[in-house]
Amino acid sequence: MKAVVFREFGGPEKLSYEDVPEPKVSETEVLIRVRACALNRLDIWARQGTRGERIPMPHISGCDISGEVAQVGSLAKNHRLGDRVLIAPGISDGTCEYCATGWDSLCESYKIIGYETQGGYAEYVAVPSENVLPIPGHLNFDEAAAVPLVFLTAWHMLVTRARLTAGETVLVWAAGSGVGSAAIQVAKVLGAKVIATAGNDEKLEKAKKIGADWVVNHHTQDVPAEVKRITNGRKANVIFDHIGQATWDKSMRAMAPAGRLVNCGVTSGGKAEIDIRFVFVRQFSLMGSYMGGRGELLKVLKFFEDGRLKPVVDSVFPLSDAAKAQATMEKSEHFGKIVLKI
Ligand SMILES: [Zn+2]
Repeated sequence: MKAVVFREFGGPEKLSYEDVPEPKVSETEVLIRVRACALNRLDIWARQGTRGERIPMPHISGCDISGEVAQVGSLAKNHRLGDRVLIAPGISDGTCEYCATGWDSLCESYKIIGYETQGGYAEYVAVPSENVLPIPGHLNFDEAAAVPLVFLTAWHMLVTRARLTAGETVLVWAAGSGVGSAAIQVAKVLGAKVIATAGNDEKLEKAKKIGADWVVNHHTQDVPAEVKRITNGRKANVIFDHIGQATWDKSMRAMAPAGRLVNCGVTSGGKAEIDIRFVFVRQFSLMGSYMGGRGELLKVLKFFEDGRLKPVVDSVFPLSDAAKAQATMEKSEHFGKIVLKI
């Protein structure tokens, strides 16, 4: 089969489009004929060798997969050949106390498909049977691949961690990212008011189109001052952050008393200073978030059936152009998900 593989860590030039053997399916797995695979920052970190010891080499990236069931292991149930499916990105043992209480991503054996296993930059991928879910609503393969990781992450952050409620205000940093564009929509479904930031006018306009109530340019405007102005001095109840170092101080200044900051990533770096006086006097909660549970993905997928949530596809590249697609992501000029068609 055709696949995009890397054998050593480095830049996009390490990605090689070539013929490799098809994966073998165990009796509890399902073989998927991949039709689309969306990119994530994780793919770039994998290629660069960040936490490289976790990555099986040679490596095929890709954790956001849609396609058709091509082969079913003898112990795998409830799947028929040709079913149109998307793949839940997390694998866990399903037996420990974390798995049993919906905290799959804290399971000791938790792995992300296409990061800690072989993934979807390929014509075929073998995945555990329980990760294979029907595509909701009328989504096509490109749209379906744009859903799992970012909507799961945004749901876990806003619903499970920050407990965002109707009428509250949330500040979403970098709305043009996949997770930012998902967060705006999840927040609107919850009945919250959304202030979204982006780096240019075109992205700000797109953020409004998918539901942001207010937009702020984080390159040319003072974000905490704008949040204060927009909210008549009350500031944001929840801060949705995946940038880290570059946004930390501004987030602290934009957060309302009893506010909750929830973070799922550090694209700008992982070090920040905390003035503990702010945290206790204003009674802030600082929360980490990593992926989410399979049960949360099942919940979030229901909102795609009636179109209350919509995948945001920025662009579609052929699999052979995976290096070009990753370079596009690294330039941060996209809005929503970049998808490989296979
Ligand atoms: Zn477990």
